[in-house]
Amino acid sequence: PYYEAQPSRYKDMTYRRCGKSGILLPAISLGLWHNFGHADDFTNARNIVRTAFDSGITHFDLANNYGPPYGSAEETFGRILKKDFKRYRDELLISSKAGWDMWDGPYGDLGSKKYLIASLDQSLKRMGLDYVDIFYHHRPDPDTPLEETMGALHQMVQQGKALYVGVSSYPADLTRQASKILEQMGTKLLIHQPRYNMMDRWVEDGLLEELESQGTGAIAFSPLSQGILTDKYLNGIPEDSRAGKDKRYLKAEQLTKDKLDAVKQLNVIAKNRGQSLAQMAIAWLLKDDRITSVLVGVSSPEQIRDNVKSIDNLNFSKEELENIDKILND
Ligand code: NDP
Repeated sequence: PYYEAQPSRYKDMTYRRCGKSGILLPAISLGLWHNFGHADDFTNARNIVRTAFDSGITHFDLANNYGPPYGSAEETFGRILKKDFKRYRDELLISSKAGWDMWDGPYGDLGSKKYLIASLDQSLKRMGLDYVDIFYHHRPDPDTPLEETMGALHQMVQQGKALYVGVSSYPADLTRQASKILEQMGTKLLIHQPRYNMMDRWVEDGLLEELESQGTGAIAFSPLSQGILTDKYLNGIPEDSRAGKDKRYLKAEQLTKDKLDAVKQLNVIAKNRGQSLAQMAIAWLLKDDRITSVLVGVSSPEQIRDNVKSIDNLNFSKEELENIDKILND
């Protein structure tokens, strides 16, 4: 059926400036790592993207190997764009990445110019786009000179195939070097995409400070620790959950008793704040303005509606913060 975007979509979302740049990102962005492969239901995928856009989410995050199979999330997203979003392209900020394994042989992984340039061309074809808004190097490659990898990102910008560039999971010192190399070539490091959630706080040990001083934005991935920071695993593993059906990245063994005990206690704090645990986990990240956007994944339109409501309460009392820390340090 014909899609007409919700006219009120920009009213409730807030938009935050990405470092020192002209770009504003929605406080909540949508990632297509899971639930958009050929193995997944197309109608559900389409409804998730529609619901997100209707909620003011303008930023959609992909990568070459999201699926399964690899490449299929970009194909699904391309189909959705073609069917529903043709006239909204200029209201969308679309990202892709390369850096993890994608195709066989020595040129389909890590950080060579050969890999990155070819991969972006493939991504553009799969999505039916002329350019992506942001292209990331997906993870550090210790064996490729940073000049080569950053040179590839710079070239994409010069060729108009990417408007902006970013890095993902780079430690603080490597991020500083990457930013300097890009700057010397005349390209800005727009954004960094690290894992960040209440249970994984490595970015607080220097990275966020570094980003602020470079004028680079930050978008936090796996904010719900893949679903652990919700109430869904408190009474066992539901069949239709990521741990229940997918098992590639979230395994039952990761749902330890200690973790679930902590989640149970966090759930009580969330309830007292009038939030679901998912909402509190997102709000906890957004309380820091160095976090430009929180990049959630969802398996249904309802989850996106639940998650966007987290921005209604981003204030934490000192006591709440201390209790959260105490629960997670025990
Ligand atoms: P999350 O931590 O947000 O986990 C998403 C999962 O949590 C969903 O699939 C769903 O699980 C569950 N969930 C979401 N909302 C709710 C809710 N309101 N109530 C209950 N359960 C909920 O993020 P992801 O790990 O999916 O990562 C998000 C995005 O970050 C990815 O799509 C990708 O774009 C990016 N990413 C980037 C990486 C990188 O290396 N740069 C690595 C990993 C992710 P269920 O299916 O069980 O319902």
